Amino acid sequence: MVQNMLVSYCGLYCDLCGARNDTPERARALVTTLKQSEIDHWGADIPDFPEFWRFLNSLTEIPADKCCRSGQCGAPNCAIRNCAKDREVEVCAFCADFPCDRIRVFAQSEPLLLHDGERIRKVGLEQWVAEQIARREAGFDYGRVRCLPCIVPTE
Ligand code: SF4
Ligand code: SF4
Repeated sequence: MVQNMLVSYCGLYCDLCGARNDTPERARALVTTLKQSEIDHWGADIPDFPEFWRFLNSLTEIPADKCCRSGQCGAPNCAIRNCAKDREVEVCAFCADFPCDRIRVFAQSEPLLLHDGERIRKVGLEQWVAEQIARREAGFDYGRVRCLPCIVPTE
């Protein structure tokens, strides 16, 4: 069992996902900007404003367990996660078949995936996690390099 819940099965680091960092930060910045413009005063009469305001505020805080390994994030039918669980593989990088066809398919939209898998094999998970925390502190997230549409294998 992997100790760090933010390490996904495929070899992404969930804290480098925009949903956990860039989006909440931008949402908080927009809340601040709108409050400074006194939106409570002029926005209340705009149709659907309460729903918009609730939704925007919901984006500012991300639950700590929003990650692949908890099942609270990621494609529900992801074949990589299902396969790794079935094989009782901690992380795909440690699987004898890495990089399998599913990983290669997903790597078409996540260009760091193969490189990071090799890196995990070379330096081990603990060192690799430290490197991802450093990436996060430097302001990196996967959204800056992802090729859309994201292709998550489901078979
Ligand atoms: S749901 Fe699948 S593709 Fe997404 S992070 Fe988890 S293992 Fe990777
Ligand atoms: S076969 Fe592929 S998806 Fe399954 S555990 Fe191995 S590397 Fe991961």
